[in-house]
Amino acid sequence: RFVTFEGIDGAGKSTHIDWYVDRLRARGIDAIRSREPGGTPLAERLRELLLNEPMSMDTELMLMFAARRDHLERLVRPALAAGRWVVCDRFTDSTWAYQGGGRGGSAERIAWLEQWVHGDLQPDRTYLFDLPAELAAERRASARTADRFEREDEAFFRRVREAYRQRAGQSPGRFLVVDGRRTIEDIQKLLENDIASIGI
Ligand code: C5P
Repeated sequence: RFVTFEGIDGAGKSTHIDWYVDRLRARGIDAIRSREPGGTPLAERLRELLLNEPMSMDTELMLMFAARRDHLERLVRPALAAGRWVVCDRFTDSTWAYQGGGRGGSAERIAWLEQWVHGDLQPDRTYLFDLPAELAAERRASARTADRFEREDEAFFRRVREAYRQRAGQSPGRFLVVDGRRTIEDIQKLLENDIASIGI
């Protein structure tokens, strides 16, 4: 199975993804954790550029999908074919949210690239960690150093959040929206129940 974690920076997804993978392994599931952009040597090098190098919106969009294509070919698809679970920190919903909602990139182009790069594959489950942009900004301020995206203003993150929620509304069966204001214990309970429901 293919599971993805999504949300605006500071919404809490990273805290939960490690725990989630540990829970799967405790149930005897062969799970690997990956991330986007990244996950393979080539895609990690593209990540370095994406996070630090100023570039145009279109270049950013195409590099995201180039990294994704490599990640899918070399890591995600072989793992799924071998019966493993892949739990990924961000996937194409991030592109809809950041390059689409945040930067105002063309939905038509994103849809076309998505179709080209993985028209036959969508995550089985996507957890969207949702949080008001102001709260997420507070959490980011007290955390790590900011990359190129995390230095965007609050209006940018409001658009990102809105695009995520819209995307979740379009595929209610795939998404589980998690209220990032809930306690860690509450969220863990919710995830635990969901693991059981997505079929082990
Ligand atoms: O989640 P993580 O901090 O690893 O993401 C790295 C950065 O790349 C984040 O600031 C995220 O917002 C950004 N990103 C993006 N578009 C994507 C994927 C990630 O802007 N498609």
